[in-house]
Amino acid sequence: MEGNRVYTQSLHFLFGKNFEGATRIVDQRGVSKISAHPSGRFIFQVAGESRRKEQYLCFAENFCACYSFFYDVVNRGEQLCCKHQLAARLAASLGSYAEVKVSDEELALLLSRI
Ligand SMILES: [Zn+2]
Repeated sequence: MEGNRVYTQSLHFLFGKNFEGATRIVDQRGVSKISAHPSGRFIFQVAGESRRKEQYLCFAENFCACYSFFYDVVNRGEQLCCKHQLAARLAASLGSYAEVKVSDEELALLLSRI
């Protein structure tokens, strides 16, 4: 569809190579949404693309635990976000993520290890 193509090109313009990486991660079902009960708070866990297959905890809007987030986004200000954040946003809008349920205590423990 023409509209989709224009939209994809805009995303590509905004996010560059991160957009390609993010779509690959989403295609490979690399995004999990970790939801805590009873609070309903959640965080995304996103698979990295290197051979070590690390997983990064990631708030779609404002934080990722990966190196690129600190180096390219925070330190140099060259990117709006890292590809894991982008993957989390894409997965959230497409509904294509695995859902993981944890307790609030478990979520707090996860966050304390970032
Ligand atoms: Zn990241």
